[in-house]
Amino acid sequence: MLLYPEPVGRLIEELRRLPGIGQKTAQRLAFHILSMPEAEVKSLSDALVQAKEKTRSCSVCGNFTDSDPCAICGDGSRDQSTICVVERPEDVIALERTREYRGLYHVLGGAISPMEGVGPSDIRLRELLERLKSDVVCEVILATDPNIEGEATAIYIAKLLKPLDIRVTRLAHGLPVGGDLEYADEVTLARALEGRRGM
Ligand SMILES: [Zn+2]
Repeated sequence: MLLYPEPVGRLIEELRRLPGIGQKTAQRLAFHILSMPEAEVKSLSDALVQAKEKTRSCSVCGNFTDSDPCAICGDGSRDQSTICVVERPEDVIALERTREYRGLYHVLGGAISPMEGVGPSDIRLRELLERLKSDVVCEVILATDPNIEGEATAIYIAKLLKPLDIRVTRLAHGLPVGGDLEYADEVTLARALEGRRGM
């Protein structure tokens, strides 16, 4: 006997593909969606499709945006001499929340991880080097995650940038080791930014 009607089974399967969603949560969400008014379900599905259709990567920093360049890259009042390198768009949001940082960002789109087959050419390093060709940038802050892959990536980039006349710093510890930058609270993240050190 099938546990669910076929379309519901399909919905649960789709929800289960999302990060952090197991079978039980997927089932709960699916049943909740079934109980919603049709207009709300339409609005939810529209929001999903629109978010995907109307956003792309900023051609400069790689962050998600609905305009190119993104609002941060296009903001002339921000400090153009500092670039903060992060793994994911979520990290930009976490750092923006601290309100401590007024420079620019560079989103790598991941971290170097030999275990997962991610090498230096799989993250946006070429684009970073390209940005550093103009003499405007004086400092690169390496804000990759404080875990093994993030540390390895930071060390790799620091070596890569060594020949350039640019100050390279890393966020200070105080961040939970083994954690994700996006989950750090604002105070911890702000302290870590303040206490960044040369590499
Ligand atoms: Zn941008």
